[in-house]
This record gives sequence, C-alpha cells and structure tokens, in this order.
Amino acid sequence: ESVINRIAAGEIIHRPASALKELIENSLDAGATSIKVTVKEGGMKLLQIQDNGCGIRKEDLPILAERFTTSKLATFADLSRLTTYGFRGEALASMSYVSNLTVVTKTKADSCAWKACYADGALTPVKAGATSDPKPCAGNDGTTITVENLFYNTPTRLSALRGSSEEYTRIIDVVTRYAIHNPLVSFTCKKTGSPSPDVSTPSSSTTEQAIRLLYGQTLAKELLHVTVIPASKGKGKASAAHQDASDDEDEDVDDSWSAEAHFTNANYQAKKMTFLLFINHRLVEASRIKRALEAVYNGVLAKGAAPFVYLSLQIDPRSVDVNVHPTKKEVHFLDEDAIIERIADVVQDALIGQSQ
Ligand code: ADP
Ligand code: MG
Repeated sequence: ESVINRIAAGEIIHRPASALKELIENSLDAGATSIKVTVKEGGMKLLQIQDNGCGIRKEDLPILAERFTTSKLATFADLSRLTTYGFRGEALASMSYVSNLTVVTKTKADSCAWKACYADGALTPVKAGATSDPKPCAGNDGTTITVENLFYNTPTRLSALRGSSEEYTRIIDVVTRYAIHNPLVSFTCKKTGSPSPDVSTPSSSTTEQAIRLLYGQTLAKELLHVTVIPASKGKGKASAAHQDASDDEDEDVDDSWSAEAHFTNANYQAKKMTFLLFINHRLVEASRIKRALEAVYNGVLAKGAAPFVYLSLQIDPRSVDVNVHPTKKEVHFLDEDAIIERIADVVQDALIGQSQ
C-alpha cells in the first residue's frame, strides 16, 4: 500500500520546485506577509519554508498529513480566493510519503510552538523512542515546514531530477514568480549557510517595483500595463459545451472575468519569452494563451526577439476545468478562446499605440 501511496505522491510532487509551489501557496493562504525559503542541494536534501501566517492549531496536527485533509473547504463560499483546482488536501500528505516532513507551528492563541514529524500520512516520533505526539518547542507565530531527503524512498523520482544547481534554478524561478504576484509579501530564498539571499523582496511594494527588483531596470523601464475585461458583458453565457461540469447542478457560471497584464513594449528584446501566468492566484501554465501572445509579439518585435509578459487572470473558479488535477499546471477553462482573443487584442492595441 505504501508503494502505491509513494507513486501517487510522486504524481503530485514532481521535484523540489513543485513541493515548494504547494508550500508557498499554503503560506499565502495562511495570510503570511513574510515567506523565507532555505534550500540545501537544490531542495533534495532540504527545503524549508518559514512563514508568519496564522499557524496551525495543535489539535489539527494529528490529521495534517492525512490525504484530503483541508481546512479550506469550510470557506467554500469565499470564491474570491478559492479555485476548484486547488485545495484538495493532498500536498502535505504527498510530501509525507516521499520525504521526512517536519512542521513547527504556532498560532497567536498558543503560548508556545508545536513540533510534529510525519511519515506515510501520519505523525511519527520526533526522535527515536519518543511518542508521535507533537512536542512543545520555542517558535514565533506562523509555520515552518521542513522537507528533508525528498524522494529518498522513491528511486525513480530521484533519478528523474537534474543536478542540484538546476533544481535550485527552478526553485528560484517559483519564488520569483510568487514574489511578482504578491508584491505586498516579502520573500527571501537562500541556500543554507549562504550569507546573502539569492531572492529578496521587501513587503508592501508594487507589482512594478517587484518586477524592477527581480528582472532589472532594463526590462522594467519598457513595461506597459493594461486591465482587460470582457468586450461586452452579459453575452455568451456558460456554454453547454463544457461537458466536464455535466454532473454539476444547472447553476450559471459567472461569465465575467478580469485580467491584469504587465508586458514589455517593442523596445525590449530578449532571447526567450518570459511568461508568468496566474489564474485565480495559482501559478499555472496555459500554452494557448502563451502562443496567442507570442503571435501578437511576432507581429511587432524584431525577428528572434522575445518579450516579458506577466498575466494575472481572475475567472469564476467554477469555470476552470475541475477534472484537471491541481498540480497539472496546464489548465483549461470555459470560454478560453474568447478570453484569450480579447486579452491578445488589448495587448496588441497597447503595443501598437505605444510604437506610434
Ligand atoms: P490544502 O492546501 O489543499 O488545504 P495541503 O495538504 O496543502 O492542503 O494543506 C493541508 C492543510 O494544512 C491546509 O488546509 C491548512 O489547514 C494547513 N496548512 C498547511 N500549510 C499551512 C501553513 N503554512 N500555515 C497554516 N496552515 C497550513
Ligand atoms: Mg495546499
């Protein structure tokens, strides 16, 4: 049974960077304004994330790493943050099957922090001979989660990883993207023992400031910004073609949406496109959006040059393909073609307007 669980866990957590993505999302969901990441050997030896969020209540610790344990379904009505493809309570469970997982956490109401270790979905002793119960310890408000020896018991996953420097590059990339999307939150990322972080952002900055800090002034000074909304609201109700939702009740999916796009103008020329996409605050990939924007730029940029685009799209969570697994980064959603076309049009207009 545990072999099956390990294989399933490996489907959810592919590599250190995908574990980190889940951990960062949890910290953000917990309301953190400071997120500190520490990494050893590309995250394969150690991946640690410290946040100052709401913490986890001691009584919730025993079930924390059980599959499908989530505290977030209670707030299902809060559609502004909730997406149907997040929140399944599988991330920590998966990590407990394929690593040594330790949680130290303190809520404001607690007088001390609690430390708990997990293996195979359940509490495990903090040290040999001890009971599995959480142990009191010193700690600040918030949560520190440590993932050690990722895939130590899953040789196929381990052998699919690249070297530690390439895994670290992916980790830096994930932290950078979340830092751009959450400019009010301070992020740091560093290697253990290193005196200075490789990523460091202050809290309370703006998107533009975060982009300048992380991608440099050369890029930042060529940025354009647009807000995109549907061309004509009220038309094109949720189409019946969305078969995945067939067993839902017949409720109307809200067809309003909005997007914020920050993108470089025609003066900016890179070798490779940088594309950051968040849908309902989750970092995802949607190759059709990317291709549509590439096509727009191909008409405007010199041949061989590529842009930077950061796009944050908010749509009714019920319109995101619910059958796509939360960690399958490639997502699809209702009225995808129309939304993509509209965004591409607005971006194109802004680019052309700017070049005149
Ligand atoms: P999900 O995010 O889908 O709910 P996870 O496995 O990622 O599932 O996390 C399980 C639960 O653990 C969360 O619902 C939340 O209650 C709690 N949790 C995880 N990380 C944190 C954190 N950094 N701060 C506070 N609570 C957390
Ligand atoms: Mg989660």
